[in-house]
Amino acid sequence: MKGICRLCDKDRDLRESHVIPGFVYKWLKETSGTGFLRFGLEPNKRAQDGYKLYWLCDECEGRLNDWETKFANEIFHPFNKGAIEKAAYGPWLLKFCASVSWRIMNLMLEEHDISHYPETLQDSALKAREIWKEFLLDKREHPDRNEQHFLPLNTIESFTDPNMPSNINRYILRSVDIDAAWGGKSAFVYSKLGRFIILGFIEMPQPRQWVGTKVHVKHGAVGASNYTLPIQFGAYLMDKARRSADIQGRISEKQNKRIEESFRKGMDRATNSESLRAMSEDVRLFGSKAFRPEK
Ligand SMILES: [Zn+2]
Repeated sequence: MKGICRLCDKDRDLRESHVIPGFVYKWLKETSGTGFLRFGLEPNKRAQDGYKLYWLCDECEGRLNDWETKFANEIFHPFNKGAIEKAAYGPWLLKFCASVSWRIMNLMLEEHDISHYPETLQDSALKAREIWKEFLLDKREHPDRNEQHFLPLNTIESFTDPNMPSNINRYILRSVDIDAAWGGKSAFVYSKLGRFIILGFIEMPQPRQWVGTKVHVKHGAVGASNYTLPIQFGAYLMDKARRSADIQGRISEKQNKRIEESFRKGMDRATNSESLRAMSEDVRLFGSKAFRPEK
Protein backbone atom coordinates (compact mmCIF):
# COMPACT_ATOMS: atom_id res chain seq x y z
CA MET A 1 0.00 0.00 0.00
CA LYS A 2 1.34 3.43 -1.06
CA GLY A 3 1.20 6.36 1.29
CA ILE A 4 3.07 8.85 3.44
CA CYS A 5 5.16 7.17 6.12
CA ARG A 6 4.15 8.51 9.54
CA LEU A 7 7.74 8.65 10.71
CA CYS A 8 9.92 9.87 7.82
CA ASP A 9 7.08 11.64 5.92
CA LYS A 10 8.26 10.13 2.62
CA ASP A 11 5.85 8.80 -0.01
CA ARG A 12 6.59 5.09 -0.02
CA ASP A 13 5.21 1.58 0.10
CA LEU A 14 3.84 1.15 3.59
CA ARG A 15 4.07 -2.01 5.63
CA GLU A 16 1.37 -3.28 7.92
CA SER A 17 2.81 -2.93 11.40
CA HIS A 18 1.76 -3.49 14.98
CA VAL A 19 0.80 -0.61 17.20
CA ILE A 20 1.95 -2.61 20.23
CA PRO A 21 5.03 -4.65 19.17
CA GLY A 22 4.20 -8.12 17.82
CA PHE A 23 6.45 -10.03 20.24
CA VAL A 24 4.11 -9.00 23.10
CA TYR A 25 1.14 -10.77 21.48
CA LYS A 26 3.26 -13.76 20.60
CA TRP A 27 4.34 -14.07 24.25
CA LEU A 28 0.74 -13.68 25.50
CA LYS A 29 -0.45 -16.39 23.16
CA GLU A 30 2.36 -18.81 23.94
CA THR A 31 1.95 -18.45 27.69
CA SER A 32 -1.85 -18.38 27.86
CA GLY A 33 -4.01 -21.22 29.13
CA THR A 34 -5.88 -21.64 25.84
CA GLY A 35 -3.33 -20.57 23.24
CA PHE A 36 -5.76 -17.89 22.07
CA LEU A 37 -6.02 -14.21 22.85
CA ARG A 38 -8.99 -12.08 23.64
CA PHE A 39 -8.81 -8.33 23.82
CA GLY A 40 -10.28 -5.16 25.00
CA LEU A 41 -13.65 -4.05 23.87
CA GLU A 42 -14.47 -7.17 21.90
CA PRO A 43 -13.62 -10.05 24.22
CA ASN A 44 -16.00 -12.34 22.33
CA LYS A 45 -13.68 -12.37 19.36
CA ARG A 46 -10.43 -14.21 19.43
CA ALA A 47 -7.72 -11.82 18.37
CA GLN A 48 -4.72 -13.68 17.08
CA ASP A 49 -2.31 -10.92 16.55
CA GLY A 50 -3.19 -7.52 17.99
CA TYR A 51 -3.91 -4.20 16.31
CA LYS A 52 -2.13 -3.41 13.03
CA LEU A 53 -2.04 -0.36 10.74
CA TYR A 54 -0.35 0.73 7.51
CA TRP A 55 1.84 3.45 8.98
CA LEU A 56 5.50 2.86 8.23
CA CYS A 57 7.86 2.35 5.32
CA ASP A 58 10.33 -0.55 5.34
CA GLU A 59 13.20 1.59 6.50
CA CYS A 60 11.34 3.06 9.47
CA GLU A 61 9.84 -0.31 10.37
CA GLY A 62 13.40 -1.66 10.43
CA ARG A 63 14.55 1.21 12.63
CA LEU A 64 11.82 0.46 15.21
CA ASN A 65 12.42 -3.24 14.91
CA ASP A 66 16.06 -2.96 16.05
CA TRP A 67 15.01 -1.35 19.35
CA GLU A 68 12.16 -3.81 19.80
CA THR A 69 14.45 -6.78 19.39
CA LYS A 70 16.86 -5.38 21.98
CA PHE A 71 14.04 -4.81 24.43
CA ALA A 72 12.49 -8.25 23.83
CA ASN A 73 15.82 -10.08 24.26
CA GLU A 74 17.37 -8.12 27.10
CA ILE A 75 14.39 -7.17 29.25
CA PHE A 76 10.99 -8.54 28.25
CA HIS A 77 11.68 -12.27 27.87
CA PRO A 78 14.37 -12.69 30.58
CA PHE A 79 12.16 -10.91 33.18
CA ASN A 80 9.08 -12.91 32.22
CA LYS A 81 11.00 -16.17 32.50
CA GLY A 82 12.22 -15.10 35.95
CA ALA A 83 15.80 -15.42 34.68
CA ILE A 84 16.82 -11.94 35.82
CA GLU A 85 15.48 -9.19 38.09
CA LYS A 86 17.71 -6.39 36.96
CA ALA A 87 19.03 -5.35 33.56
CA ALA A 88 21.39 -2.69 32.30
CA TYR A 89 20.36 -0.80 29.19
CA GLY A 90 21.92 1.34 26.51
CA PRO A 91 20.50 4.14 24.35
CA TRP A 92 18.02 1.67 22.77
CA LEU A 93 15.66 1.66 25.78
CA LEU A 94 14.76 5.34 25.50
CA LYS A 95 14.31 4.92 21.73
CA PHE A 96 12.11 1.89 22.26
CA CYS A 97 9.94 3.60 24.91
CA ALA A 98 9.61 6.75 22.81
CA SER A 99 8.65 4.66 19.77
CA VAL A 100 5.86 2.94 21.71
CA SER A 101 4.57 6.23 23.17
CA TRP A 102 4.76 7.83 19.74
CA ARG A 103 2.72 5.01 18.16
CA ILE A 104 0.05 5.15 20.87
CA MET A 105 -0.10 8.95 20.63
CA ASN A 106 -0.58 8.58 16.88
CA LEU A 107 -3.33 6.03 17.40
CA MET A 108 -5.09 8.31 19.87
CA LEU A 109 -4.83 11.32 17.57
CA GLU A 110 -5.81 9.48 14.38
CA GLU A 111 -8.29 6.84 15.43
CA HIS A 112 -9.80 8.14 18.64
CA ASP A 113 -11.51 11.40 19.26
CA ILE A 114 -9.61 13.46 21.81
CA SER A 115 -11.83 16.54 21.53
CA HIS A 116 -13.04 15.94 25.10
CA TYR A 117 -9.51 16.63 26.34
CA PRO A 118 -8.85 20.12 27.68
CA GLU A 119 -7.73 22.34 24.79
CA THR A 120 -4.26 23.09 26.14
CA LEU A 121 -3.76 19.35 26.51
CA GLN A 122 -4.66 18.71 22.88
CA ASP A 123 -1.93 21.18 21.88
CA SER A 124 0.54 19.52 24.23
CA ALA A 125 -0.33 16.10 22.79
CA LEU A 126 0.48 17.28 19.26
CA LYS A 127 3.74 18.79 20.49
CA ALA A 128 4.74 15.61 22.34
CA ARG A 129 4.10 13.54 19.21
CA GLU A 130 6.35 15.86 17.20
CA ILE A 131 9.14 15.80 19.78
CA TRP A 132 9.10 11.99 20.03
CA LYS A 133 9.17 11.75 16.27
CA GLU A 134 12.20 14.06 16.01
CA PHE A 135 13.93 12.06 18.71
CA LEU A 136 13.26 8.79 16.86
CA LEU A 137 14.71 10.30 13.68
CA ASP A 138 17.83 11.47 15.57
CA LYS A 139 16.88 15.09 14.93
CA ARG A 140 17.12 15.81 18.65
CA GLU A 141 19.27 14.28 21.37
CA HIS A 142 16.58 13.73 23.99
CA PRO A 143 12.80 14.06 24.29
CA ASP A 144 13.21 17.12 26.51
CA ARG A 145 10.27 17.57 28.91
CA ASN A 146 8.33 14.76 27.25
CA GLU A 147 10.16 12.17 29.34
CA GLN A 148 9.73 8.41 29.07
CA HIS A 149 9.27 6.46 32.29
CA PHE A 150 9.53 2.71 32.59
CA LEU A 151 7.99 0.53 35.31
CA PRO A 152 8.58 -3.20 35.60
CA LEU A 153 5.75 -4.48 37.80
CA ASN A 154 5.64 -7.57 39.94
CA THR A 155 3.04 -9.76 41.58
CA ILE A 156 1.24 -8.02 44.44
CA GLU A 157 1.93 -10.16 47.51
CA SER A 158 -0.28 -8.31 49.99
CA PHE A 159 -2.32 -5.14 50.20
CA THR A 160 -4.05 -2.84 52.65
CA ASP A 161 -6.39 -0.89 50.36
CA PRO A 162 -9.93 -2.32 50.73
CA ASN A 163 -10.70 -1.23 47.16
CA MET A 164 -8.06 -3.45 45.61
CA PRO A 165 -9.72 -5.20 42.62
CA SER A 166 -9.66 -9.00 42.82
CA ASN A 167 -8.13 -9.40 39.34
CA ILE A 168 -5.16 -7.13 40.14
CA ASN A 169 -2.45 -9.75 39.52
CA ARG A 170 -4.02 -10.91 36.27
CA TYR A 171 -4.18 -7.28 35.20
CA ILE A 172 -0.59 -6.56 36.26
CA LEU A 173 1.03 -9.69 34.84
CA ARG A 174 -1.07 -10.54 31.79
CA SER A 175 -2.78 -7.55 30.25
CA VAL A 176 -1.94 -5.40 27.26
CA ASP A 177 -3.48 -1.97 27.59
CA ILE A 178 -3.17 1.53 26.14
CA ASP A 179 -4.53 4.90 27.19
CA ALA A 180 -3.94 8.64 27.09
CA ALA A 181 -4.76 9.93 30.55
CA TRP A 182 -4.65 13.17 32.44
CA GLY A 183 -5.35 14.36 35.96
CA GLY A 184 -4.75 17.83 37.31
CA LYS A 185 -2.03 19.34 35.15
CA SER A 186 -0.31 16.05 34.48
CA ALA A 187 -0.90 13.97 31.33
CA PHE A 188 0.68 10.89 29.79
CA VAL A 189 0.42 8.17 27.19
CA TYR A 190 0.12 4.81 28.91
CA SER A 191 1.29 1.58 27.27
CA LYS A 192 1.18 -1.66 29.18
CA LEU A 193 3.03 -4.63 27.65
CA GLY A 194 2.31 -7.40 30.12
CA ARG A 195 4.09 -6.49 33.35
CA PHE A 196 5.94 -3.53 31.83
CA ILE A 197 4.49 -0.05 31.77
CA ILE A 198 5.80 2.75 29.59
CA LEU A 199 4.65 6.29 30.34
CA GLY A 200 5.34 8.99 27.80
CA PHE A 201 4.68 12.32 29.48
CA ILE A 202 2.66 14.92 27.60
CA GLU A 203 2.69 17.24 30.60
CA MET A 204 4.70 16.66 33.75
CA PRO A 205 4.25 19.50 36.23
CA GLN A 206 5.78 17.63 39.21
CA PRO A 207 8.63 15.41 37.99
CA ARG A 208 9.86 14.95 41.57
CA GLN A 209 6.87 12.73 42.30
CA TRP A 210 8.38 10.09 40.03
CA VAL A 211 11.56 8.62 41.47
CA GLY A 212 13.61 5.88 39.82
CA THR A 213 11.41 5.44 36.75
CA LYS A 214 12.88 7.89 34.23
CA VAL A 215 14.59 6.31 31.22
CA HIS A 216 17.95 7.97 30.59
CA VAL A 217 19.38 8.90 27.22
CA LYS A 218 22.59 6.89 27.35
CA HIS A 219 22.40 4.13 29.93
CA GLY A 220 20.95 2.95 33.22
CA ALA A 221 19.41 -0.09 34.88
CA VAL A 222 15.84 -1.30 35.37
CA GLY A 223 14.25 -3.63 37.91
CA ALA A 224 14.67 -4.66 41.55
CA SER A 225 15.05 -1.10 42.78
CA ASN A 226 12.65 1.03 44.73
CA TYR A 227 10.35 3.31 42.85
CA THR A 228 8.34 6.18 44.20
CA LEU A 229 5.15 6.96 42.33
CA PRO A 230 2.45 9.53 43.01
CA ILE A 231 -0.36 7.98 45.02
CA GLN A 232 -2.84 8.85 42.25
CA PHE A 233 -1.06 6.47 39.91
CA GLY A 234 -1.87 3.52 42.18
CA ALA A 235 -5.54 4.51 42.05
CA TYR A 236 -5.27 4.81 38.27
CA LEU A 237 -3.88 1.28 37.96
CA MET A 238 -6.62 -0.14 40.18
CA ASP A 239 -9.19 1.61 38.03
CA LYS A 240 -7.68 0.12 34.87
CA ALA A 241 -7.81 -3.35 36.46
CA ARG A 242 -11.48 -2.84 37.33
CA ARG A 243 -12.29 -1.80 33.77
CA SER A 244 -10.50 -4.83 32.43
CA ALA A 245 -12.57 -7.10 34.75
CA ASP A 246 -15.69 -5.34 33.56
CA ILE A 247 -14.83 -6.08 29.93
CA GLN A 248 -14.02 -9.70 30.77
CA GLY A 249 -17.40 -9.86 32.56
CA ARG A 250 -19.05 -9.12 29.23
CA ILE A 251 -17.84 -12.34 27.65
CA SER A 252 -20.95 -14.25 26.64
CA GLU A 253 -22.02 -17.61 28.04
CA LYS A 254 -21.29 -19.31 24.73
CA GLN A 255 -17.81 -17.81 24.56
CA ASN A 256 -17.09 -18.76 28.15
CA LYS A 257 -17.90 -22.37 27.21
CA ARG A 258 -15.43 -22.17 24.35
CA ILE A 259 -12.74 -20.80 26.64
CA GLU A 260 -13.40 -23.58 29.14
CA GLU A 261 -13.24 -26.23 26.39
CA SER A 262 -9.98 -24.82 25.05
CA PHE A 263 -8.61 -24.93 28.60
CA ARG A 264 -9.69 -28.55 29.03
CA LYS A 265 -8.34 -29.68 25.66
CA GLY A 266 -4.98 -28.22 26.47
CA MET A 267 -4.89 -29.26 30.14
CA ASP A 268 -1.11 -29.62 30.33
CA ARG A 269 -0.67 -26.34 28.64
CA ALA A 270 -3.15 -24.71 31.03
CA THR A 271 -1.53 -26.05 34.20
CA ASN A 272 1.84 -24.72 33.14
CA SER A 273 0.58 -21.49 31.72
CA GLU A 274 1.53 -18.07 33.00
CA SER A 275 -2.14 -17.05 32.84
CA LEU A 276 -2.98 -19.77 35.36
CA ARG A 277 -0.16 -18.62 37.62
CA ALA A 278 -1.46 -15.05 37.54
CA MET A 279 -4.94 -16.38 38.35
CA SER A 280 -3.54 -18.35 41.31
CA GLU A 281 -1.93 -15.20 42.69
CA ASP A 282 -5.33 -13.51 42.73
CA VAL A 283 -6.96 -16.55 44.35
CA ARG A 284 -4.27 -16.49 47.03
CA LEU A 285 -5.14 -12.86 47.82
CA PHE A 286 -8.91 -12.90 47.37
CA GLY A 287 -10.11 -16.52 47.60
CA SER A 288 -13.21 -17.32 45.55
CA LYS A 289 -13.90 -13.59 45.07
CA ALA A 290 -11.20 -13.72 42.39
CA PHE A 291 -13.55 -15.64 40.10
CA ARG A 292 -16.37 -13.12 40.24
CA PRO A 293 -16.19 -10.15 37.91
CA GLU A 294 -15.90 -6.80 39.70
CA LYS A 295 -18.89 -4.53 39.70
ZN1 LIG B 1 9.56 5.95 6.81
